[in-house]
Amino acid sequence: MRSEPVQSTPELPPGTRIQPADCETHGAYEQKVFAVLGRELRSNCPECSRIAREKSEAAEQANKAMELRMALARKLGDALIPKRFLTRTLDNYRVEHDQQRKALKFCRHYVATFEQIREVGRCMVLIGKPGTGKTHLGAAMANELLHKTSRSAVYRTVGAVLQDIRGTYDRHSERTEGDILASLINPDLLVLDEIGVSKEQPSDFELTTLFAIINGRYEREAPTVIISNLEANDLGRAMGDRCVDRLREGGLIVVPFEWESQRGKEGF
Ligand SMILES: [Zn+2]
Repeated sequence: MRSEPVQSTPELPPGTRIQPADCETHGAYEQKVFAVLGRELRSNCPECSRIAREKSEAAEQANKAMELRMALARKLGDALIPKRFLTRTLDNYRVEHDQQRKALKFCRHYVATFEQIREVGRCMVLIGKPGTGKTHLGAAMANELLHKTSRSAVYRTVGAVLQDIRGTYDRHSERTEGDILASLINPDLLVLDEIGVSKEQPSDFELTTLFAIINGRYEREAPTVIISNLEANDLGRAMGDRCVDRLREGGLIVVPFEWESQRGKEGF
């Protein structure tokens, strides 16, 4: 540090002066020197201070994200993504033809641009034949956000959601229906699989529950990814037209899975 003649500045509190100083990284700056209880305190390089402040703010944000995830997991009473799906990633999705390559590209783009997706609450539908890897890609998007960003993501099947909610009707249940719904409405991304899996007309309970979730997310402008083996035209019957209208807001991305089943083949 250079030692230069000290200037005295009239606006500074008594006992404070400014002197030129040098930061190894950022070069020259004006250093404030305070006299406190007979000792001298010197201000640090403002650029270094700003970087340190930003780092601690980022750490604080990451902490908050972790706390939110833990609170969500407590409400779900389970992992945010079921264990068997934790190994599904975008990188280990097997691509054998152009249609699969295109589907993978859509999913990668959705994750890569998630901050913009989140701004407008843009939803996505992975739809088409069974055994084409929709679940793999859906779970992979949730995994990617959960493990590589500070965003929260939950993967659930409709069947598991309905079962969880029925479970709360037991008077010994520690969780309420509101807890379960909140744990599906609050995450930054919800991936909801097996829409219309029964092929039968859904019950009122199922339709009301789906609408509570989709509408709750819609009101928060939070994006949802829907997975279904149905044809696009049958989604309204399976989840209610009001739900489909909500999903369409913000520009729904539809990814078709129209090739033959890969089940039984290695990797699926
Ligand atoms: Zn510096």
